[in-house]
Amino acid sequence: MSAVGTPSHPLRVAIIGAGPAGFYAAEHLLKQPDLTVEVDLFDKLPTPFGLVRYGVAPDHPKIKNVTRIYEKTAKRPGFRFFGNVEFGKDVLLDDLRKHYHAVIFTTGAQVDRHLNIPGEDLDGSHSATEFVAWYNGHPEYRDLTFDLTRERVAIVGVGNVAVDVARILCRTPEELEKTDIADYALDALRKSRVKEVFMLGRRGPAQAAFTFPEAKELGEMPDADVYVPPEEAELDPLSKAELEAEGARDKLKKVALIQEWAHRPRTGKSRLLTIRFLVSPVEVHGDDTGHVSGVKLVRNELYKADDGRLRPRPTGVFEELPVELLFRSVGYRGVALPGVPFHDRWGVILNEAGRVIDPETHSPVTGLYAAGWIKRGPTGVIGTNKADAVETVEKLLEDVKAGRHWEPEEPTAEAAEQLVRTHQPDFVTFEDWKRLDALEIERGKAVGRPRVKFTSVEEMLEALRAGSEAPPA
Ligand code: NAP
Repeated sequence: MSAVGTPSHPLRVAIIGAGPAGFYAAEHLLKQPDLTVEVDLFDKLPTPFGLVRYGVAPDHPKIKNVTRIYEKTAKRPGFRFFGNVEFGKDVLLDDLRKHYHAVIFTTGAQVDRHLNIPGEDLDGSHSATEFVAWYNGHPEYRDLTFDLTRERVAIVGVGNVAVDVARILCRTPEELEKTDIADYALDALRKSRVKEVFMLGRRGPAQAAFTFPEAKELGEMPDADVYVPPEEAELDPLSKAELEAEGARDKLKKVALIQEWAHRPRTGKSRLLTIRFLVSPVEVHGDDTGHVSGVKLVRNELYKADDGRLRPRPTGVFEELPVELLFRSVGYRGVALPGVPFHDRWGVILNEAGRVIDPETHSPVTGLYAAGWIKRGPTGVIGTNKADAVETVEKLLEDVKAGRHWEPEEPTAEAAEQLVRTHQPDFVTFEDWKRLDALEIERGKAVGRPRVKFTSVEEMLEALRAGSEAPPA
C-alpha cells in the first residue's frame, strides 16, 4: 500500500456529477475503515441529486426520499460539494490532476436517442428527456415550450419514462398541484387541452419495458381511462412460448394487466390513454405550418433473432395516426466529456468495470473511472447505481493499493478550493444547497405545495446572496 490514504496524506478523489451514482461512489469511498479519504463532488448545476431532482416524476415523491441517504453521505468527514462548477469549462482534467489522485465520472445520460425517421424534427416533435427535464424545473430546459393546447399526443416507446410522460399528461391540475412540479409547467398543464394520449410499443405486451407497479398506476388515474386494442393485447405464438418457458412472474402479471385493460369499459373520464403494441413510426407528417399533424405507423411482427431475443420487423401494413404532438421516449444516451475516451455508438465512457479504457492501447487510463449510466448505459432503477458505483470504487481502491494513481502536485483540500474559486467564484456548497432546499420548501408551504423549485441558476444564486446579506435575526 502506498502512503496515500493516511491522515497526513489522504486519498483525494474528485467525482463529476452529483446524481445517485456520484453519491453512492462518495459513500463507498468515505466509509472505508482503514483509509483516510477526501471526496469533492462536483456538479454543473447548483443543486445536487441529478435525476432524483430532475428525472423522477413529481408525482412520485416517495422515490425522492432516497436523497435522505445522500444527505447522510454529505455529512461524512471528508465530503465536499461544489455545485455550479462545470467539468470541461470551470475545471479541466489537467486541473484535477494537480489536486486529486483520481476522478470518477458519474455524469449520467443526459440526451435522448433519436428515431432517425423523416419528419422527426418538425415543430411539435420533442424528446421525452426534454419534457421531463422541463416539467421538473431543470434550469437548462425551463425555457422550452410545449404546445399543450393540442388534443392528441403520441409517445414513442413503452418504457418507464414513457409511462411518466403519459401520466403527467393525463393528471388533473388538482393532482399536479400536490407535487413539486415546476410552477411554469403546472401553469401550462392547467391550461392543457390534451384529450388523447397514445403510447406506441414496437414489440408486444410481453416485451413492454415498463415495470408492473408503474403500469398499474396508469390504470388507476382519477380522470383518465386506459385502453389497449384487444387484438394488440393478444400474445403472438413466439411470445407465448417464451413466457411459458420463462414463467417470469412480473412479466405474466404485466401481460395480464394489459389484457384486462383491453376489455375494460370506458368510464367517461376526460382523457383516454391508449397503449398500442407491434407498431413503429416510420414517418412524422406535418401540416402547412410545419407542425406535426400525424405519424405513419407500420405494423410489426416478432421474429427470433440470432441472439435469441424476439425482435420486431415491419409487415408492410401501414396506418396513419393523427396526432399533433409527438414525444420520443426510446432511451437516453450519455454525452462525451473533454479528454475522456467515449464510445459514441453506445453513448457511454469506454470502460471495463468502471476503469476508463484507452481506445488505442485497450489498457486502463491511470486515474480515470466511471460509474452509473455514463458507465453502463441508461438501465435499471436508482438503487442499481449503488452496486455499480461500489464496483468502480473497488477497482479504484485496488489501483491505489498497487500505486496506480495520479501524483498530484498539491493534494490538499485548500488548493482544490482555490482552483474552483478562481474559475467559478459562485460555487455552491452543500450548506448553501440546504439553504436553497429550506427556501423551496418554505415557498411551497405558502401555496400548499411540498416545494416550489427555483428553476434558474441566477434565481438560486440571488436567493443565496439575499440570505447571506440578511441581518441576523
Ligand atoms: P427503456 O426502459 O430502455 O425503454 C425504452 C423504450 O423505447 C422501449 O419500449 C424500447 O422498445 C423503445 N424503443 C427503443 N428504440 C426504439 C425505436 N427505434 N422505435 C420504437 N421504440 C423504441 O428506457 P426509458 O423508458 O428511457 O427508461 C430508462 C431507465 O430508467 C429504465 O431502466 C427505466 O426502468 C428507468 N426508469 C425507472 C422509473 C421508475 O422506476 N419509476 C421511471 C423512469 C425511468 P424495445 O424494448 O423494443 O427496445
